Amino acid sequence: MKSFRKYLWFNTSGRRDYINITREVSACLKESKIQEGLCLVNAMHITASVYINDDESGLIQDYDDWLEKLAPHAPVDQYRHNRTMEDNGDAHLKRQIMGREVVVAVTEGELDMGPWEQIFYGEFDGRRKKRVLVKIIGE
Ligand code: ZN
Repeated sequence: MKSFRKYLWFNTSGRRDYINITREVSACLKESKIQEGLCLVNAMHITASVYINDDESGLIQDYDDWLEKLAPHAPVDQYRHNRTMEDNGDAHLKRQIMGREVVVAVTEGELDMGPWEQIFYGEFDGRRKKRVLVKIIGE
């Protein structure tokens, strides 16, 4: 069995961002030369997510509005977590909803996804360097 491991790095200019990383993950798969197996993509930070959905600007704005309704950033003192002098209590909750990782089947050297599926990095407490792990195993 072959195994491949690589980090993708992000440093978003805003607090929240949604970045399509499908091309970067596909590039990892090509580099791995794995034809059949599984590809795990996970955020290495507790205030960021990796998820799969449609790349459509209206939907991305809908996600952001929905997450802000569920866990508004402000006022920051509404979160017990922020008593630790942090201000990212909302980002922990947003991450929980949007998930930590995705696993995609690898078939004939390609990411085996549905027609509209795209892999996203969801950032909820950006403006600093953060990373995503890509781990691919197979033959
Ligand atoms: Zn925190």
